[in-house]
Amino acid sequence: MPVKAPPKKEEPAKKEEAPAAAAKPAEVAAAPKKVEKGKHEKKHRVEKGVHAMYKIEGDKVTRARPTCERCGPGFFMADHHDRYTCGHCGFTRYKQK
Ligand SMILES: [Zn+2]
Repeated sequence: MPVKAPPKKEEPAKKEEAPAAAAKPAEVAAAPKKVEKGKHEKKHRVEKGVHAMYKIEGDKVTRARPTCERCGPGFFMADHHDRYTCGHCGFTRYKQK
């Protein structure tokens, strides 16, 4: 009976995390949430731009929102709490639970 060789412990070569070489604009620090009762403060809204639609992981770009099925790639859909909506054609896709 052949002796089964113990499984070699091969550790996968650790991939060195690529330094974020892509010049990422310094994200504006979110303003601390301080809501005082009685005071009606203006909500500070962080302006969203196309940069909010993409996330850079390592050297790959992922899209944070789905694109419109009607308009095709390039048209991101707005992320609502229960649905995605295309601002271009009005297409709405409800989130499945
Ligand atoms: Zn659309």
